[in-house]
Amino acid sequence: MKEEAIKAYKIPVEVPRDLIEAYFEVKKRALREILSHVTRSRTEKAHLNFKAEDRRRLRSILLSDWKFSKHYIDSAINSVIGLVKGWIKLHNRGKAKFMPKITKKTVYIKNTLFSYKNGNLKISIEPNKRYLEVNLRDYDWIPDFDRIGGLILSEEGLLITVKREVRVEKSRQWASFDVNLTNITSLINGKIVKYDIRQLYHIHRVYEKKRMRIQKLSKHKPKTAKKMMQKYSKREKNRARDFMHKLTAGIVEKLNEIKSGAIFENLKDIKGRILNKSRDLNRKLSKWNARMFQFMLEYKLKWLGLPVKYINPKNSSKTCPLCSGRMAAYKDRLMRCEKCGLISDRDVVAVLNIQMWGSGVTPKGDEPKGDVSQGLHGLIYAYVS
Ligand SMILES: [Zn+2]
Repeated sequence: MKEEAIKAYKIPVEVPRDLIEAYFEVKKRALREILSHVTRSRTEKAHLNFKAEDRRRLRSILLSDWKFSKHYIDSAINSVIGLVKGWIKLHNRGKAKFMPKITKKTVYIKNTLFSYKNGNLKISIEPNKRYLEVNLRDYDWIPDFDRIGGLILSEEGLLITVKREVRVEKSRQWASFDVNLTNITSLINGKIVKYDIRQLYHIHRVYEKKRMRIQKLSKHKPKTAKKMMQKYSKREKNRARDFMHKLTAGIVEKLNEIKSGAIFENLKDIKGRILNKSRDLNRKLSKWNARMFQFMLEYKLKWLGLPVKYINPKNSSKTCPLCSGRMAAYKDRLMRCEKCGLISDRDVVAVLNIQMWGSGVTPKGDEPKGDVSQGLHGLIYAYVS
């Protein structure tokens, strides 16, 4: 099966700040204009009445004092129309809290605005006289790709999306993963490996404390507080992302060696329970970590043509991987099977089940096949003892 794999990279280049600022202003003007074409029915349903001639008129107004390449105006108008349409959809479902706003200083670069040849990326800034040129060969961490998917300029640099057609291999091997608050438990090539992610927990905790302090400040200095909040949130995300990138890169290398696919829990199937505040925060954190981990591992594996599967994790840590009996909390993180007496770490139980259910060894809820459980016996006891 052929599929298109995508990766994105941030390249630290000297960005054309004047273009970024001008584009930001143009988008704000376009938004005001396009919003004035939103009509409302008697039932308060919004509708965009922005015709081709309205677009032409707006385009020529915006172009009148625009020195940059013209295509930027088209991309600005398109992106604002998209924003307004998205807002209308929300509004008509009664879910729009605020009017749409232009908040991000990012410039989407259409493929009519750049050329790519022999590793050299040439982006038109001002027609026929000013370009942003980047030699992608200088960035050897960007892998070989088939084509460029898209480019986005921001104050921090150039974000480049690259695409490649891959043949997804039919995997005989599957690794499974279970993301918890302080560790990620995996079953790779028949071995249980626990990855310590306490550092990630620590990062989030540190910033949580900072946020609480800033919140106090926000009464006296709301603007400063808001700025600081944004700064710290960004730092927190970057640090967490760095950590995840390193972790997933190592795992991908391991899986690529044995050509193994990966099975994850489908997070959509995890139902939230009402919990106390600190536990609630931890739950949110776990979910955030899991989403980030799965997202990164998935696109890295897909790039190599390795498959990814999701399964419904319901009862994954409460079902005995040997006899499908019910497991109950035993002590600490241990679970005990009420039917066969197996005692095992709950994270290990989860990855075993995720792997068996996902790879089809044991259909969910069915009795496991004898030969598999024999192998698993050794594995579970080896781990517990
Ligand atoms: Zn059992």
